[in-house]
Order: sequence, then structure tokens, then C-alpha cells
Amino acid sequence: MKIKTKLSLGLGFLFSVILLLAGLGTYYTIRLAGEAKEVLKNNYESLENAKNMLRATDALLLSDSASYLLALKTFETSLQRQLNNITEIGEQGATFTIKENFDLLKETLTAKKEQGATNHQIAVIRQHLYQLTDINLQAIIRKSQAAQNAAERVSMYLILIGSFSTLITFAFILYFPGYIANPVRELTESIKQIANRNYRQRLHFKAGNEFGELADSFNQMAQKLDEYEHSNLAQIMFEKRRIEAIINNMSDAIIGLDENRTILFSNHEATLLLGLTEADLVGKYAPDVALQNDLLRHLLSENGTSPIKIGSPEKESYFAKEVVAIQLPPTEAGKKIGQVIILKNITQFRELDLAKTNFIATISHELKTPISSVKLSLKLLRDERIGSLNPEQQRLLEYISEDSERLLRITGELLNLAQVETGNIQLHYRPIHPKEIINYACQTIQLQAAQKQVNLEVNLSEDLPPVHTDLEKTAWVLVNFLSNAIRFSSQAGTIYIRASYTTSQGKQFVCFSVQDFGRGIEARYKDRIFDKFFQIPDADALKGGTGLGLAISKEFITAQGGDIWVESQLGAGSTFSFSLPVV
Ligand code: ADP
Repeated sequence: MKIKTKLSLGLGFLFSVILLLAGLGTYYTIRLAGEAKEVLKNNYESLENAKNMLRATDALLLSDSASYLLALKTFETSLQRQLNNITEIGEQGATFTIKENFDLLKETLTAKKEQGATNHQIAVIRQHLYQLTDINLQAIIRKSQAAQNAAERVSMYLILIGSFSTLITFAFILYFPGYIANPVRELTESIKQIANRNYRQRLHFKAGNEFGELADSFNQMAQKLDEYEHSNLAQIMFEKRRIEAIINNMSDAIIGLDENRTILFSNHEATLLLGLTEADLVGKYAPDVALQNDLLRHLLSENGTSPIKIGSPEKESYFAKEVVAIQLPPTEAGKKIGQVIILKNITQFRELDLAKTNFIATISHELKTPISSVKLSLKLLRDERIGSLNPEQQRLLEYISEDSERLLRITGELLNLAQVETGNIQLHYRPIHPKEIINYACQTIQLQAAQKQVNLEVNLSEDLPPVHTDLEKTAWVLVNFLSNAIRFSSQAGTIYIRASYTTSQGKQFVCFSVQDFGRGIEARYKDRIFDKFFQIPDADALKGGTGLGLAISKEFITAQGGDIWVESQLGAGSTFSFSLPVV
């Protein structure tokens, strides 16, 4: 049965009980009041009449004529009233006998017959008056008895009905609040369980009412959540294992910390380098572990972007530290939830670089002697004493001379580069016009640009002052900028080369910039690309580079009192710039 029907029935029942009790009470009260009134009217009046008539008969016996007449009159009035108030069985007979005898008495008194007759009639009247009084007293007693019986009966009924309805109402009071409240409590409890992810929770209300329907819907919801949770959980666990496997198989050492610096995970490489087991690390407070571990202490410290040397003197490995802050997406308030420390193995690059440096140094050194001898031979050839040359031969000699000059310059430059990489830069300052530097760089890069059909657009401000610089090294920086720009530009793209005059903190500078429209650089890498061996972690970009070009450029420029920087937007291209002081 529906709860609504049950409630209506229950309240309807209580309403009927109230109506019944009120109706019965009112009915019997009115009835008892009516009966009392009737007793008063029927019997009490008759008693009053009989009493008056008795008193009157007493007065009739008196000889005083005034009293006699008054008594006669009183008797007559009371008799008349009694004649109109005959209500009981036997009352009529007695009243009529009194009337007959009174009439006779009146006649006798009028005729003034004998005294004996008068006394006899008065005696008969009094006898019947007593009879009348008796009849009415009996009636009063009987009626009062009947009324008492009726009152007892009514009380009995009322007590019975009252007790019955009290029992039912009591049962209602006991049962009904629980009937409504228990399912609500059970439902609240179950909702709490669901909120605590206990999706096995079910409701077991009897079907057939609204709570039954509610239980069905709730159980369906819980089942769906349960299914969703299980399918999701399996998926999440699988993805977690996959990510753990990827992290473990990476050649870089990776350590993950939460926002309270507790170690969340550490891959195989990291545990090897730290010389600790996973159990020593995972779940521990990182600064506590760092107290016993120098490498971890260094990794947790804020400073130091320079490569870290790890291992024995025979087998040294170099690592670059990278700390990546992990943040929730902006949709979730961008909250910081930890950091990942990555130790990138750059030993290979160091070794390559060393090999390259040695190779460059050797080649440069070895080339110097033959080039010098070529120059000497050229000088001899030009000597008239050896023989005269025709104009065509002389032009060829000019070409050879220029080329050998350039070769000599390049070998010198290569030696310089080797010196930079070993930390000894030798700069040869002289005032040079910016245009000269740009032309030099453009000439050098021309072949590379032509191969990719990249268009180099030079844009110089007018009246640029000469700068105080080492031409070869500054041109080398510009060539490095251009070669990167060509590499990241699309086929047949355009690269702008600009030079402009600026002042900063009271000093004058010429600012050189190379703008490309390639893939651009993420903001977080902007400061780091000038670090040695740093390359943006992207498979495409790693091709063919060592991450040294910009670092050497920075050394060249800062050594000359200038500054170097990059402006870039991911996807829109980059502008690499450097400034050099004016002479
Ligand atoms: P290399 O080019 O030898 O890798 P560099 O020091 O010249 O080393 O450059 C460092 C990194 O900076 C590169 O690996 C590349 O990812 C990034 N980079 C340099 N120039 C550009 C550019 N024009 N556009 C996008 N990324 C660049």
C-alpha cells in the first residue's frame, strides 16, 4: 500500500474516533439533561401540587372563614395544575378520585351538611394525595435509577471506545514515526556509504510503496557506480603500471616528490645513482634521506645548474639536473602538487664534445702548416724572377690567395672554439661596422640557406655606429643563430636579420637579432637554452645538435660586455638577439 494511502487512512481513522467520541458524549449528555428536566416537570410538579393540596386540606379543617376560602382556592388551583400534569400510571386514577371527592366536599361544605361526612371526604382526599405523592416519588426513584443506569452504560461505552481508540492511537504513535523515519535514516546512512565510495551498499525496503520505488532507484544508481568504479579502477591501475614501467625504463634518473617533499617514486636509474634501494626512498621525507646522501642533498638544493659529476675517476659520468614543478591544470586552481627531479645523463655529449674539441684542435694545428706553405708558394709564384704570369694566371693566384687567407682564418677560429670549450678565450677587439659582421655571417651561411631555399632578409637601421668587437667570434655567434633559425624554419621560409641602435643604463649598444617563424620555444626553456648541453626535449630538435652553440655564443658575447637573449612564442617563431657596446 502507498504511504500516502496509509497516512490518509491513519489520519482518517483518528478523525473518525474523535468524531465518534464527541458525538456520543454530546448525545448522551443532551439525553440525560432531557430526562432530568422531564423528572422535574412531570414528577416534581406533581409532588408540589400534592403538597399544596395537603396543606389546603389542613386549612379546610380550620373554622376561620378567610383561611377556609383561601385554602379552597389553593386546593382548586393545585388540583387544576395536577389535572394538566398526569404523567404516571395510576396518577390519573388518584387525581380523578381526589377531584370527585373534592367536588363532593365542596357540595357538602356549601350545603353545610354534617361534619362527619366532611371529615370522611377530607380523609379520602388526603389518602389519595399520599398515594399521588408515592406514585411520583416512586417514578422519581425509578427514573433516577434509569438515568444512573444509562449514565453508567454511556460511561462504559465511552471507556470502551476510548480505550480501543487509545490502543490504536498508541500503536500508531509507536509504529508510524518509525515507519516513516527508519527508511529515511537507512537512506541517509546508505548515501553516506556511497559518498565514501562503498558502492556495494544496497537498500532493502519492501516493494509496493514509495520507499520501495526509492530503494529500486537507489540500488540501480549504486550498481551503476559500482560498475563504473570497477571498470575505471582496472583501467587506472593498468595505466599506472604502464607509466611506472615507462619511468623505470628511462635512461635518465627520475625522482618524484609530493608537495610536502615526500618521495613518491624513484626509477631504477635514480636508485642506482643514489646507491639506495626503492624501499629506502619511497614514502620517506626527502630532506631526511638527504642527510645521509650527498647526491640527494645536492639534487634538493635550489642552486646549481652546472653538470654533476658522478662516479669513480676511471669512469666518470656527467648529469644535468632538471627540476620540473608539477601543477594541476588551471581548471583545478593550478595548485602545486609536487616536483620531479630529472638527472639527464650527458656523459655522451661531454665525451663527444671532448673528442670534437681535440679533433678541432688537432685539425686546426695540422692545417696551419700546409696553409702557410701554400701562402709561401703563392708569394714565390708572384715573384717576377721566377717567371712572369699572364693576367688569367694572376687572377687565379688571387683566388687561391683569398681562399688560403680564409682557410687560415677558419682554422684559427676553430682553435679559438677549442679554447672556449676548454675555457680560454682570446679576443681580438677592433671597431667593426655591424654591416660587416652581418655580411660575413650571411656569406658563411649562404650555402646552408640555399639548400633549404630559405630567404635571408637583412634590415639595418641607418647610420649605425661601429661596435667594439672581435669580428670572427661575433660573426660565429650570428652564424650559429642563423644556422639554428634555418634548421627550425620551414622549407623556403624567411629569416629576418636586423641591427639597431639602443641605449641601456647610459651605455650605447648595437642590437643584432635573427627572427625565424619556426616552431618557437616554450617559456620554461627560454632561460635554459643558453646552458651548455641543453637541448629542448623534443625528438626533432635533438637531431644533429649538441646543445653547445648557444652556450658558446653566450660566452663570446658576455666576454665582450654584451648581452644575449631570446624572445619566442611556441608555434609562432623565435627572435634570438645579442647586443654589443658601441666603440
Ligand atoms: P644545438 O643547436 O647544437 O642543439 P644550440 O645551443 O644552438 O644547440 O641550441 C640549443 C637548443 O635551443 C636547441 O636544441 C633547440 O632545441 C633550441 N633552439 C635554438 N634555436 C632555436 C630556434 N631558432 N627555434 C627553436 N628552437 C631553437
